[in-house]
Amino acid sequence: MRIITENAEETQKLGMALAKLVTPGDTILLNGDLGAGKTTFTQGFARALGINRPLKSPTFTLVREYQTTNFPLYHLDVYRLGEEGGADELGLEEYFGRDGVAIIEWPEFIKAAWPNDFLTITIARTSNHNEAERVVTLDATGQQSQAILEKLETIWN
Ligand code: ADP
Ligand code: MG
Repeated sequence: MRIITENAEETQKLGMALAKLVTPGDTILLNGDLGAGKTTFTQGFARALGINRPLKSPTFTLVREYQTTNFPLYHLDVYRLGEEGGADELGLEEYFGRDGVAIIEWPEFIKAAWPNDFLTITIARTSNHNEAERVVTLDATGQQSQAILEKLETIWN
């Protein structure tokens, strides 16, 4: 699935739409360069789950946990592990595929911890002159994520 967003609000709206479809155990990998819009997407995602305060990127803490009505939300930003390494000893897999929903910025740095079923979302600037345009690509790995993506496609179109 491929979507063009024209501004940050639209990317947040996509995050909100996805948040309505997830259930405990779901994992979302967020790819994209610095400033692409990963945290912006997560902001919308969190807001739809009832988290209204501004989301701080957990670059130094690696993970921030939020309580929602139905499950914990784990927001991970593991950017700094790209330089420091050592991801394998952190036990981050405890956040994935279990009681909560996990959304992860820079997931390639913790590949060993990925669950079997996950959504991959890649946000990229376009080559257009529109500074606020992004292309968002969504892919599913596993049946649960495939089902979510099919529903999202129906809602979004
Ligand atoms: P990342 O977490 O990927 O490093 P952020 O979400 O922190 O990126 O920052 C993205 C920046 O780009 C924000 O300042 C946001 O307002 C801006 N922006 C402009 N257009 C868009 C868009 N279409 N989608 C997401 N963010 C956008
Ligand atoms: Mg970020």
